[in-house]
Amino acid sequence: MGKSVEAATDPTQSDGAASEAEEIGDVRSLPSVSQLLAELGDATPQAVLVGAVRKALDDARRTVIAGGKVGRRAILDAARAAATDATSPWPRAVINATGVVLHTNLGRAVLSDDARAAMLEAAAYSDLEFDLGTGARGSRDSHTAELLTRIVGAEAAAVVNNNAGALALALAALARDRGVIVSRGQAVEIGGRLRIPDVMTQSGAVLREVGTTNRTYASDYADACNERTALLLRVHLSNFQMSGFVAQPSLEEMVEVAAAHGVAVLDDLGSGCLVDTETWGLRHEPTVQESVRSGADVVLFSGDKLLGGPQAGLIVGRSRYIQAIRRHPLARAFRCDKVTLAAMHATLLHYLCGEVEQIPTLRMLALPAAEIEARAAGWLRSLSLTGARLRPASSAVGGGSLPGSELSSTALVLRPEALNLTADSLAARLRAGRPPVVGRIEDGELWLDPRTVLPEQEEPLLHAVRAAAQADG
Ligand SMILES: *Cc1c(COP(=O)(O)O)cnc(C)c1O
Repeated sequence: MGKSVEAATDPTQSDGAASEAEEIGDVRSLPSVSQLLAELGDATPQAVLVGAVRKALDDARRTVIAGGKVGRRAILDAARAAATDATSPWPRAVINATGVVLHTNLGRAVLSDDARAAMLEAAAYSDLEFDLGTGARGSRDSHTAELLTRIVGAEAAAVVNNNAGALALALAALARDRGVIVSRGQAVEIGGRLRIPDVMTQSGAVLREVGTTNRTYASDYADACNERTALLLRVHLSNFQMSGFVAQPSLEEMVEVAAAHGVAVLDDLGSGCLVDTETWGLRHEPTVQESVRSGADVVLFSGDKLLGGPQAGLIVGRSRYIQAIRRHPLARAFRCDKVTLAAMHATLLHYLCGEVEQIPTLRMLALPAAEIEARAAGWLRSLSLTGARLRPASSAVGGGSLPGSELSSTALVLRPEALNLTADSLAARLRAGRPPVVGRIEDGELWLDPRTVLPEQEEPLLHAVRAAAQADG
């Protein structure tokens, strides 16, 4: 919905005086920036328009130098399109037909209707840091933190910008210049170059690796504890699995070792699962409640992974540690924005009120295979495209949650050759559609998985697929 650039009413009045249909085959015949600007009118900020015209002319120059011809109208259209693009809102809504529920490149968790409404309400003035009862100043995350403690059964909580921030802040507040003991199998990289040893160094904590890559015992932690030790850290492996000849003590065993040596246990859970994933036939994902019950002193997790809320880092645990984290001089640098807090609060209310089906991430994970198949079959019927068919597929949880867990699904598979296209060109057309559709390419075919397509997106999806299949060229 950018401001579209209107063509000047009468191009022959401009000093270019050339026909838009003119084909240009040499560089000296290309129009000047000012000629094109005059023809495009002034519906867009001039700086944007100048940039768009320069880019269109550069592209045209390259085409001509390479021996091609370019129409004056094509240059004007390219400039108009670039200007419209530059003034369009961003990010744009896309239809996620990849079947990856928590797709990091597509914005991870889809927020619930209540969370979206709460964000809008918070966008204006609100009682963010104001107690309406007393008129006194309040703390911005205390309402949400209290809600969280009630849900997971912890003493206290804090909400920060994301889980990477939660980890950095917790380490800085609880272990600066002191030892943090980590299993060699858990000194991992989470993705986006978030590396546990690096975060540790930057936070001023002293990493002490114990055990081996595949096997670590409770006694390894115990043997490494000394008077400089602050924490035992457990890190969820998130994006990968280790199997075979592996050993890792339970959280309870780590808590026991920590208690015997007067140190605390910090548990980086990653995903922040608050429900039992086994009810949907998935592997068991450790829940926050389990960590709290096992006696972890501080538990950290993301807001926008399995929890299904906005990007945030949630910290729960014993009051004295949470207080130390809240009072750290850098806490302010990690704090959440009001819109995020509103969305997080609304998402957590779904858990408190026992209405997790309101959370799109959980609803998508829970979709029965038969329902997905019926939707895919409906798409197939409605499109009736040559070469299209249904195939058994598997959706993924994504977002570093439950790696290797497969969700059975049914995909609508489009055969590009039947449409005189390649898989890449079909995918590109779908991405360029309105709305853009992102599928996945497998075995040279384009797969569309209904699991991650929201119900209200089905009609627009079918429309976009029809348009991509029919367009010429
Ligand atoms: C995802 C993850 C993080 C980072 O969380 P963000 O909220 O994305 O910053 C940290 N630790 C673990 C174990 C994770 O899985």
